[in-house]
Amino acid sequence: MIYETMSPKETFELGRKIGLEAKAGEIICLDGDLGVGKTVFTQGFAKGLGIDEAVNSPTFTIIQEYDEGRLPLYHFDVYRIGNPEEMYEIGYEDYFYGQGVCLIEWAKLIEELIPDEAKIVLIEKNLENGLDYRKITVSD
Ligand code: ADP
Ligand code: MG
Repeated sequence: MIYETMSPKETFELGRKIGLEAKAGEIICLDGDLGVGKTVFTQGFAKGLGIDEAVNSPTFTIIQEYDEGRLPLYHFDVYRIGNPEEMYEIGYEDYFYGQGVCLIEWAKLIEELIPDEAKIVLIEKNLENGLDYRKITVSD
């Protein structure tokens, strides 16, 4: 599915709708350049799961867990990861193959660890359509 949004609010809303339908065990990869809206999407997604706590990029921790929603949310940001070995150190398999939902910003950097069943959400700008335009491709 291809969506187009014209504001952070619309991207948040798309994330929220997808979060409402999220199922236990799901893994969603968020790809796209820095500042494209991966965290905005995640904030909406968290809202859809029923999480009211503030969600930001887990810059210093790789993963942040939120337990107050309908399902546990495991929010990864692997941007600063040196190599995929670090994922083993944090015990990523417990999250990927657990009963929560994983959202992974910069999933491309750990491509070899991503299960085939994972969904991919790719967010892209197109400056010809304005600074706030985003094309969001959701594949599964
Ligand atoms: P990322 O996590 O991909 O690095 P962020 O979600 O942190 O990016 O930041 C996206 C930035 O782009 C925010 O400052 C947001 O306000 C802005 N923005 C402008 N238009 C949009 C849009 N259509 N969707 C999402 N974010 C947008
Ligand atoms: Mg981010």
